[in-house]
Amino acid sequence: MSDSPAPFASLLAARDLAVVWHPCTQMHDHETLPMLAIERAEGAWLYATDGRRYLDAVSSWWTNVFGHRHPRIVAGLKDQLDRLDHIMLAGMTHEPAVALAEKLVRRAPTGLTRVFYADNGSSAIEVALKMSFHYWRNQGRPERNRFIALRGGYHGETLGALSVTDVPLYRVTYAPLLFEPILAPSPDAYLRATGSTPQQHAASCLADMRRLLEESAARVCAVVLEPLVQCAGGMRMHHPDYISGLRRLCDKFEVHLIADEIAVGFGRTGTLFACEQAAVSPDFLCLSKGLTGGTLPLSAVLTTEAVHAAFYAEYSTGRAFLHSHSYTGNALACRAALETLAIFDSEPVLERNRVLADRLCARLRALERHPHVADIRQTGMIAAIELVRDRESRDPFPADERRGLRVYLHGLSRGVILRPLGNVVYFMPPYCVTAEEIDLMVDVAIEGIERAVA
Ligand SMILES: *Cc1c(COP(=O)(O)O)cnc(C)c1O
Repeated sequence: MSDSPAPFASLLAARDLAVVWHPCTQMHDHETLPMLAIERAEGAWLYATDGRRYLDAVSSWWTNVFGHRHPRIVAGLKDQLDRLDHIMLAGMTHEPAVALAEKLVRRAPTGLTRVFYADNGSSAIEVALKMSFHYWRNQGRPERNRFIALRGGYHGETLGALSVTDVPLYRVTYAPLLFEPILAPSPDAYLRATGSTPQQHAASCLADMRRLLEESAARVCAVVLEPLVQCAGGMRMHHPDYISGLRRLCDKFEVHLIADEIAVGFGRTGTLFACEQAAVSPDFLCLSKGLTGGTLPLSAVLTTEAVHAAFYAEYSTGRAFLHSHSYTGNALACRAALETLAIFDSEPVLERNRVLADRLCARLRALERHPHVADIRQTGMIAAIELVRDRESRDPFPADERRGLRVYLHGLSRGVILRPLGNVVYFMPPYCVTAEEIDLMVDVAIEGIERAVA
């Protein structure tokens, strides 16, 4: 694309491409795709070495909820660095780990009273899967060794997390290495039959889930889902009834419910946690991404007193949960997370987000009758546009046409980072974004869409 910056515009980008292997990237693409060399970030903006700046409309893979370098998090980290950097979390503890666990328990849905730390989202999923399985084993039910996952779900890319992921792009190649989950239909409202509502679609998917549980509950440890929005699967959204109905089914059939709020937690959907919108407490709540405000890697799995109790025994390491990462409960990361929660306490984040979300919604109406837009959907501070070849038939663009890539390149040329998921153009801006920045981001996306579908 002639209007995008040159691929090797900076020395740093050239050095990078000689040595760094990037995630989720066909490295050959960078023979033509620009590699942005970022030297500084402030709020919603990234500043590149070539003097250009970019609006971070996807919050750096959804981690950076308050924008970059929020003063409160920066100050907390500097202070923490002068006290304690890191210690192993076996046989020792520290103030940030304890204070964060206390605070998470206070803010999370009721009944979640125990906090296990890990250091990234995928590891949190591994922890929840292993803990649920081991719980049933400790209860004398070792035959429970299967998991139910939803079609279109994404839970990370380490082998266990990838096993319960149903996004072909990430899974297909590695399938021979993975365990097979039992897949249930997705409540994704985009898939609903014509004439039915998202709520009716949720009810019909719950009926399918009930049938699956009737057949298989005796062998199932847990059902795992991304509440409200299946993010990496294409920002697919569902009615909260699905979550409350699923909680009831899990209770009835005595299987655990694992809520993966790694992407949707921390205010993204309009409430601090997405489960709140269905008034549901899961048995495991997995958190990462926004947990440290996008500063440091950290994850946490919250669980119940009942789960914790099943591992608690005298003289028995076999009953104990044996899972450890060197950086479990890193003090700096815990401190960043504490500051993140303190921002929710001291600033009207959710109220401000409601106003910003309304603005985003209003601006997206411009695409309502677009011939290549089949769906515009939004949950709080996540909005997505489904590009199709034909609006009426919802016939998709072939994946190899990479229409989303053209939107991405147009965004770069206009200084906005949009990273479409296939043909889904989405916005997940940091909460510090202004109304004018929302307008810019949407205008640039619309221009990009016009070029991409032409
Ligand atoms: C990103 C993500 C993960 C994996 O987290 P990583 O830190 O990238 O390993 C898991 N689940 C969901 C819903 C995610 O969005």
